[in-house]
Amino acid sequence: MEILRLEDVTKSYFLDGEEIQALRRVNFSLDAGDITVILGPSGSGKSTLLTLLGGLGKPSEGKVWCRGKSLYDLGNEELALWRNKIFGFVFQFHYLMPELTAMENIMLACRIARKPFEECQARAQKLLSHVGLTNRAGHKPGELSGGEQQRVAVCRALMNEPEIILADEPTGNLDLKTAEGIHDVLWEICQKEGRTLIVVTHYEPLAKRADHILSLSGGQVIKKKN
Ligand code: ADP
Ligand code: MG
Repeated sequence: MEILRLEDVTKSYFLDGEEIQALRRVNFSLDAGDITVILGPSGSGKSTLLTLLGGLGKPSEGKVWCRGKSLYDLGNEELALWRNKIFGFVFQFHYLMPELTAMENIMLACRIARKPFEECQARAQKLLSHVGLTNRAGHKPGELSGGEQQRVAVCRALMNEPEIILADEPTGNLDLKTAEGIHDVLWEICQKEGRTLIVVTHYEPLAKRADHILSLSGGQVIKKKN
């Protein structure tokens, strides 16, 4: 079943009166539950593509469809609600709150969604266990390694059981071995829970295992099936 579709999407930025076309007439669709890797050199439009897919940007032209809704035809409030409900984000930098513990950071997302405390706690514990951090639940980000911090960020993204996880170079700052572990847990959890995963990464083994590869070059996208 189709979950996301880009229709003739173009995105331009204007800098000092000069137009930069980050995406040019992009068309593709993705099915629910699929795992997609976005590849491309720096500046090819990967982050721009991910922000448009996740309701965080606005295309200059074209439409982004998510489960049959045209995202950018929604009002701001409805778009924000939709974004919180459907998407989970993992960025290159973890953006964890330094004064909160790992557990508290993860639970924050759930508390914002006003779910019952016990339900949030059970989900957070399950996720922490899945990423192998049960015994670090009470630690603050400053007391965790870069890889552990990113695992916590992965848990936070998954907390509200989003249908779609968007990850932008989630291991860009980590060594290869640590990166491997993060990709493995992201992959495992999304597969196990049937979530759609779209990840920008230069990590080859993941690209080999993905259902699709979106290959970007100069703002144009080619979708390949593995
Ligand atoms: P990637 O993630 O593949 O490195 P980006 O999507 O970040 O690529 O950027 C694509 C192009 O758009 C680049 O030329 C970049 O400089 C430009 N760009 C991205 N964001 C902005 C912005 N906010 N303002 C102006 N230009 C931008
Ligand atoms: Mg980028």
